[in-house]
Amino acid sequence: MKKVLVIGGVAGGATAAVRVRRLDENAEIIMFERDEYISFANCGLPYYIGEVIKEREKLVVQTPESIKTRFNIDVRNNSEVVSIDKDKKTVTVKSKARGTYEESYDYIVLSPGAKAIRPNIEGINSKKIFTLRNIPDTDNIKEYVDKKGVNSAVIIGGGFVGVEMAENLKERGLQVTLVEAAPHIMAPFDTNIVLTIEKELQDNGISMILNDGVKAFKDTENGVEITLSSGAKLNTDIVILAIGVIPDTGFLKNSGIEFGPKGHILVNEKLETCVPGIFAVGDAIEVVDFVNKTKTAIPLAGPANKQGRIAADNIAGLKTTYKGTQGTSIIKVFDLTAGSTGNNERTLTRLKIPYKVIFIHPVAHASYYPAALSMTLKLIFSPDGKILGAQGVGYDGVDKRIDVIATAIRFGGTIYDLTELELSYAPPFSSAKDPVNMAGYVAENVLAGRMDILTPDEFMEYDKENTTLLDLRTEMEFSNGHVENAINIPIDSLRERIGELDKNKEIVEYCAIGLKGYIASRMLAPKGYKVKNLTGGYKSVSILNFKPNKPEISDKTKGQGLDQNTQVVQKTDKGIINFDKVLDACGMCCPGPLLKVKENIDELNEGQILKVIASDPGFYEDIRAWCNKTKNELMDLKKEKGMSYAVIRKGINNDTEIDTTCSINAVEKTNKTMVLFSGDLDKAIAAFIIANGAVAMGSKVTILCTFWGLNIIRKPEKVTVKKGIIDSMFGFMMPRGSKKLKLSQMNMMGIGAKMIRSVMKNKNISSLEDLIKSAIDSGVEVVACSMSMDVMGITQEELIDGVKIGGVGYYLGEAEESNVNLFI
Ligand code: FAD
Repeated sequence: MKKVLVIGGVAGGATAAVRVRRLDENAEIIMFERDEYISFANCGLPYYIGEVIKEREKLVVQTPESIKTRFNIDVRNNSEVVSIDKDKKTVTVKSKARGTYEESYDYIVLSPGAKAIRPNIEGINSKKIFTLRNIPDTDNIKEYVDKKGVNSAVIIGGGFVGVEMAENLKERGLQVTLVEAAPHIMAPFDTNIVLTIEKELQDNGISMILNDGVKAFKDTENGVEITLSSGAKLNTDIVILAIGVIPDTGFLKNSGIEFGPKGHILVNEKLETCVPGIFAVGDAIEVVDFVNKTKTAIPLAGPANKQGRIAADNIAGLKTTYKGTQGTSIIKVFDLTAGSTGNNERTLTRLKIPYKVIFIHPVAHASYYPAALSMTLKLIFSPDGKILGAQGVGYDGVDKRIDVIATAIRFGGTIYDLTELELSYAPPFSSAKDPVNMAGYVAENVLAGRMDILTPDEFMEYDKENTTLLDLRTEMEFSNGHVENAINIPIDSLRERIGELDKNKEIVEYCAIGLKGYIASRMLAPKGYKVKNLTGGYKSVSILNFKPNKPEISDKTKGQGLDQNTQVVQKTDKGIINFDKVLDACGMCCPGPLLKVKENIDELNEGQILKVIASDPGFYEDIRAWCNKTKNELMDLKKEKGMSYAVIRKGINNDTEIDTTCSINAVEKTNKTMVLFSGDLDKAIAAFIIANGAVAMGSKVTILCTFWGLNIIRKPEKVTVKKGIIDSMFGFMMPRGSKKLKLSQMNMMGIGAKMIRSVMKNKNISSLEDLIKSAIDSGVEVVACSMSMDVMGITQEELIDGVKIGGVGYYLGEAEESNVNLFI
């Protein structure tokens, strides 16, 4: 009968002990735990302090009694193993109940975990400075916060535990300041991702001090004074020290076991130490990095549990091996989720491993289904396509995407594999092209040379002096904020305005999220332009400007609130104001929400109030700039669960001194817009005659061809495109191009149409084809409605040259600016 001792009774230890039992009913198993509690939920501790988890009992997953009953394991809590004698094959135990004694073994599983670092700095032994590792630590912090009327907390260290504690103490109503010695918090994430996390903390009222460590602590009458390396001083009621962990392996000093440079136990792939029969798992061991194969230490619960099982397998004679840790991790930061897997850029750069990066900002589920929130996904891959890492941040669906990519990494996957993954889809959950597929597509385009990209960091550093910086977003997006010195040519005008670009200069282009940039690359590169597209677009670089506020101005509790129940905004100086209108712009992507706001504001009278709810994350920043520019008052702006809530009071034009040309309403509108719905020859001729006339009189003209109107702008020749049966049938039945159109009346099997054409020719009136060509050449915007194209199965290749593809949002924007709007 085997005698197995397990040292440490939580994540790795408890797993190992019960797995040995499940594999060997006859083994004698003793589990030693230094503290009182075994098998508790370390990961839940911050949430119990924050009172998200309300019942303390829920933290304790198993008790010594329950393990004894079900698994026949002799659990000895309050029993610390103080040494191991490998020659005698015994351990020495210091027990509260039994005093000091020896216990013999055949096998040992070491899972002693790690302990919180408490550096030897002045004042560190203050009773108001706490660390968090186990249930007694949790009880101490909670008791202090509950009973002593604590109002403020300083968290030292911005790792997982520090950030979770910051959030949970804030939820308890404390003023929280997070101090981090490194330039940024959350080391597993690269800076371009972590800034979003920092912003979320700030938006939720956490003050942050970065790049500044602690020099000394001093107890004061009511709390602690903290002196930072910069000389700055902070006063607080309670300090949580969360600056990392070190392996808890001091008791193994004379055991013959070998250690790594930072005191971690060295193990082989069976997780056996150099001492035969002694296995080790969890936070205390050094592991192989699954991606780069170097030695590292990654203290996470998932790996500890898996390792516990593998050590048990080997004791039971199964030949299971541990293949490494890839560091897949996730954190909730108020409403935000941030997740990562594999290596980040910092690690790859340090190890001189070549890599490429792409950013995308997809929505978590179909944008037309309510509450579609976008996320940022960063994919890191080798020049031959192997996935090296991924990071994601957003309000919905990040966990799933990071886990899918983590799985792909585990199976040695490539970016090509991501393009092929068949993932579950229905509108509430995802899109037909899942964000993971999209990341694969973009990466594939980069590796295939279809698009030359700049990462946000490269973009910031790039020599922009000698390049043309091209902003492809709409005029409204551009005027709401852009990169300095950029010229604005909206993507839909790029073909006509291509002549404005200097072929001898490199073009660095960007759009909102990177997609239009790709389309522009595909337009420009074949024409001989040297183009680089900013991956992730403006959204990826605009966050790089984020800098935390000075602590005293970041207190969210000083802001005004929006009462969700009464639907009123509390104005500290003006009392309670009712909303005049509510706009739900959820599910719309930029610039949709802004266009809707403009439309709604236009309908209000001066001084009336519009409340807007939008799910597009960019809206939070966009609406500030828009209100500023349009002189509407932004009374309140806040974010909750990824949704932005804005309260806008219309205009300030009651002040007669103000130059009214600044007002959006005062600008003279001369544009003409038309919806060309009909596919009748006579109506098409009328539309294009009006368009040519209006453009000749100096108006900007936009024609949205929708439904049957699409037939007017179809190419006459057959274009081979891949289509489904229904789409092909539709295409076959509808007239292919303007020459096949019928008259709305007196068509007479086509004779009427022929007669009209001949009369027009005799009277020297241009044919419909000439009218269309002349309109496009003169700058009339002929826009094919993307939605109707979809419905009718018409593809872009089937349309005549010079036609743009656009949506209703685009058309409505143009219609806003026009004084004539026709429906034909
Ligand atoms: P532990 O689970 O720490 O267990 C070690 C046990 O060994 C301790 O109870 C200790 O008392 C005992 N021990 C030590 N020395 C001796 C001795 N000589 N004799 C007897 N007993 C001894 N990871 C995640 O993946 N996700 C999370 O969300 C997450 N959140 C966390 C939140 C907090 C507050 C903390 C502290 C950790 C969190 N972790 C999280 C990390 C995760 O809990 C650890 O990686 C995991 O518990 C490590 O397992 P382990 O068995 O190595 O050590």
